[in-house]
Amino acid sequence: MKRTWTYRFWRSAAQCLLASIAVALLTFVCFRLRVNLTIACLLYLTVVVLLSVMDGLVPSVFVSIISVLCLNYFFVPPLFSLDVADPLDIVALIAFVGTALLITYLMWRRKRAEEELSRSNDELRGEIDERQRAEEALQKAQAELAHVARVMTLGELTASISHEVNQPLAAVVTNGQICLRLLALEEPRPDDVRTTVERIVRDANRASEVVQRIRALAKRTEPQMISLDINDVIREAILLVQREVLGHGVSLRTELASALPPVLGDRVQLQQVIINLLINGVEAMAPITDRPREIVIRSRQHDAGHVQVAVLDSGIGIDSKTAEQLFSAFFTTKPGGMGMGLSISRSIIRAHGGRLWVSPNPDHGAAFQFTVPTDG
Ligand code: ADP
Repeated sequence: MKRTWTYRFWRSAAQCLLASIAVALLTFVCFRLRVNLTIACLLYLTVVVLLSVMDGLVPSVFVSIISVLCLNYFFVPPLFSLDVADPLDIVALIAFVGTALLITYLMWRRKRAEEELSRSNDELRGEIDERQRAEEALQKAQAELAHVARVMTLGELTASISHEVNQPLAAVVTNGQICLRLLALEEPRPDDVRTTVERIVRDANRASEVVQRIRALAKRTEPQMISLDINDVIREAILLVQREVLGHGVSLRTELASALPPVLGDRVQLQQVIINLLINGVEAMAPITDRPREIVIRSRQHDAGHVQVAVLDSGIGIDSKTAEQLFSAFFTTKPGGMGMGLSISRSIIRAHGGRLWVSPNPDHGAAFQFTVPTDG
């Protein structure tokens, strides 16, 4: 709160009044007890110190002055006069005023320094709060952007996804018909019926799992960092893009290391990154006609605390000079491209505590690689 001059004036005036009363009482007590000049000086100094500690430069200076007057009037001969007979008494009074004013000044300086410190602490706290708010807003915006990009990618994968759902459903229908035929036999074969029904259940579950995975990708949820098997995450991502990959005449090979430690991550976001890299790989191979179009997706231990995933393609490749540019938002070389995929992927991997980078393949194409910290 900003204190006005009027407020300060009245506050100082009230303090001076209270200080005068305190000095009057002290004078009365000291005079009745007939204390000597030295003791009186010390008692008056105590009052000055107390006032300086409590507050205010003005009341302390005021008390110093009226104290020296009281001391002179009541304790320095000739009594009840402001004259001083002994030069030593003059020295004592001057020493008293000097000490009182010095104490007042030092206390006032200390108080100012404390106020300054608490003000800069408040400012610092304000700045930290502000930065935290900005970071939260940024994270929220990034999460929303990632969600939009995911939904857009799902749109591109409609053919692949509908195939993944249709295939098991078609199998359910076929097996259902087989089941009906088996039951219509004069001598029903319970073992065959059971096997066929088991197939129906398995295929229906498969279709339902695909739908659940798509729903998870399409839903906007807060990232959930859990312990994950990175190879499972890769397999699930492949399932969604498989058709897209095959449709472009690309063969997809996996080299997944076994016995990898679990990673700590958000399943949906990591899948989004992998799907992004796979689709980019497929698109980078579209103009290639003179060599096989092949994508290899590899997982392996990177270092003690990280697992590494690499997506290698045999596409047009990248120019090492502009490699970093690919990760900038809105950088695209595709006619209908948005240029957000790699930028979002990098921010997802960074938020996981990992790194996403690209390097040219020794022969053809590009290798996009990322690391994710292991869990524990
Ligand atoms: P978009 O796919 O919408 O262009 P991205 O951020 O995913 O956005 O990719 C940015 C650019 O990086 C692409 O336009 C392309 O030029 C380049 N790029 C991405 N992946 C590859 C790749 N596997 N091979 C060669 N270039 C790539």
